[in-house]
Amino acid sequence: MNGLDAALRAAEDAAVSVRTYVPGYPITDLAQALRCQISVNEKVALEIALGASATGLRSLVVVKQVGMNLLADPLVISATHGIGSGVVVLVGDDLGPRRSQAEMDSRFYAPLSELPLLDPCRPGLLYASLLEAYALSEKLRIPVMVRITSRLLSAQEEHIPSRPLPATGQRFEKNNWELTAKGRHQRHHDRIMAFAQEASESSPLNQVQICGEIGIIASGHPASLAQGLGVSVLALAYSHPLPERLLRRFIDGHRLILVAEEPEPFIESILSENPKIRGKLTGHLPRGALERLDIIQALEELGGRPERRRQAYEGVAERGYEGVCSDCPFRALFSALAKVDAPVAGDAGCSIRATREPFSSADVAYGLGSSAGVASGFCGKGIALMGDFALAHSGLAGLINAVWSRRDLLAVVLKNDVAAMTGFQEAPDLSRVLEALLPTSVLDLPAEEEDVEAALRKELARRGPSVLVARGRCVMKKNSRKN
Ligand code: SF4
Repeated sequence: MNGLDAALRAAEDAAVSVRTYVPGYPITDLAQALRCQISVNEKVALEIALGASATGLRSLVVVKQVGMNLLADPLVISATHGIGSGVVVLVGDDLGPRRSQAEMDSRFYAPLSELPLLDPCRPGLLYASLLEAYALSEKLRIPVMVRITSRLLSAQEEHIPSRPLPATGQRFEKNNWELTAKGRHQRHHDRIMAFAQEASESSPLNQVQICGEIGIIASGHPASLAQGLGVSVLALAYSHPLPERLLRRFIDGHRLILVAEEPEPFIESILSENPKIRGKLTGHLPRGALERLDIIQALEELGGRPERRRQAYEGVAERGYEGVCSDCPFRALFSALAKVDAPVAGDAGCSIRATREPFSSADVAYGLGSSAGVASGFCGKGIALMGDFALAHSGLAGLINAVWSRRDLLAVVLKNDVAAMTGFQEAPDLSRVLEALLPTSVLDLPAEEEDVEAALRKELARRGPSVLVARGRCVMKKNSRKN
């Protein structure tokens, strides 16, 4: 059984009836196997889960790390507002990152939102962590996060026993409104997180092995890498709140401690005042994802100052990148965009594949759904380039703002009816919404580059915000149908 199978079994055994997701690496396959319902964005995905919870249904939200940035608003509020039945946010961190615009450690959202986060290291513990998360979520009436990575999802474990957790049908308690926001926050500190602290201290999912005077404190996949190295290992169940007494006992019992975690020194930064602590901050381990060899090398250098290794910044030339498909219908558009002499804000969909040579069609790309807002701030009229999924995700809000505040921009929507980068999930058709909102014209692709350039120049000559909907059929989608 791999990590994906373990998560499936946990969702069944915890009787999770409402499951939502937003596609993206590394969670798309997992979310689809879980039969999660797609949402246009992560904020909506969590809001659906909260609504289900308030009316007595357990819910699961599956997102990738950058999705946490949009989900954070209802997450922070739900921590003190309270919930009904269990809500778990299962977040996948893309280490590397392989298919994301930013490497991010989602664990930092746990102290920010003041919510518990479990960080399991192998499939059996992923299963047990999800069940523990639902039990804790329901007892404390708060959402609980569980962090995963692609390596955890593909890791194997032979036997994972089932421990069903029947649904309770617990609903939101209206007497919550008797406390002010300040009062709910006071209660959160005083009672709820104090209980979570005890859960972290006493969790049977904490794994301790004692061996010699050197110890490793680890969380997530590095806890698996740290096994069998002839040193003590404390594999933590919770990254937040940390089990303070357990950590103190473990640190006191050893001469030196290596903190092995990824991608950022989240736990190490909390423990770093102790002179025994070594890790990424002290230069003993590299930033980002860890390998077993990194830990072995760090243990060899633990007593001294680590040799400062020259760091080569990863470049596109050595790693390579997915360019625009050779028979993509949008190729002429990507070429024409570079010729019209207007700043172009790109997005996180297929348009990001055209940011480099031979197209160089976008100047900047700050994330999914961002292009309309970014182009609204350009000095002079610019272009907001987005896919139709990006439009639905959060791009529409930028367009509404452009109309409302009379920003001068041209939005170019690549309409292929799918989220091609994440597996061809269907994108909502917002054509009529666009037509009702602002002047809209349509360009069917493929077309000659001169015609596409002429269409762009014509739209750019128009005063005020407008939209050019570039319609084309994704050839990769067609091919995936054949397969
Ligand atoms: S996946 Fe589809 S839309 Fe994206 S570049 Fe390839 S053909 Fe074009």
